[in-house]
Amino acid sequence: MIVLQSQAEEIAEANELLADAPAETILRWAVRTYREKLTMATAFGAEGCCILHLLAEIDPNVRTFNLDTGYQFAETLELRERIRERYGIEVEYIRPESTVAEYEAEHGGPLYNIRPDQCCHDRKILPLRQAVVGYDAWISAIRRDQTNHRAVAGVVQWDAKFNLVKINPLLNWTRKDVWSFILKNDIPYNPLHDRGYPSIGCWPCTASVGEGEDERAGRWAGSGKKECGLHVVEVEDGGGI
Ligand code: SF4
Repeated sequence: MIVLQSQAEEIAEANELLADAPAETILRWAVRTYREKLTMATAFGAEGCCILHLLAEIDPNVRTFNLDTGYQFAETLELRERIRERYGIEVEYIRPESTVAEYEAEHGGPLYNIRPDQCCHDRKILPLRQAVVGYDAWISAIRRDQTNHRAVAGVVQWDAKFNLVKINPLLNWTRKDVWSFILKNDIPYNPLHDRGYPSIGCWPCTASVGEGEDERAGRWAGSGKKECGLHVVEVEDGGGI
């Protein structure tokens, strides 16, 4: 889909206005602008937990969801319950059409080792496409300093992959900012972070990392894959993500 010129101008204006704004200001703007057409995907990473904490204050009714691939860590699923208890926010599970058992039977075994792009496509991207139908904008928890793809993101941008406006309130935060905020506000977080997992996805594709290693080095370690595809830039009519 091609973003309309007028919409592209509005996005560019908002991005300019909010480029250096605090995360709370960006979220308040998003809630005010998109109302019930705003949604958020979260994998319950440290950054996502910060945004859920902010949303609990600003508007806990923003629809939030988790892409439950069937391969998530038990600690991640437990964190969803802890978030619900603390904030009253019930993050909705969005699941692929097939269970893990059905999927692996269909393909003669798991695909995460041999065709991880297809596995991510089938178990994350396709369900996400369904989950955002009818929404105008989505909130993501990416930080600019995480990957080269994320370095070129904007605070407000057009997401050509999912035909939505994408809002990245923590884009300018560092890892240190995230952890200072979590500790200061006693925000629930995944205990795996304390066991050498700075970035957590599905268990088959997430390894612990050593001291000083890149924080995403444990994601699809040993392969060239760095992203599941949700946050990869796609250039269309002048750019988008
Ligand atoms: S992260 Fe791994 S297990 Fe999860 S959907 Fe992608 S390839 Fe499959």
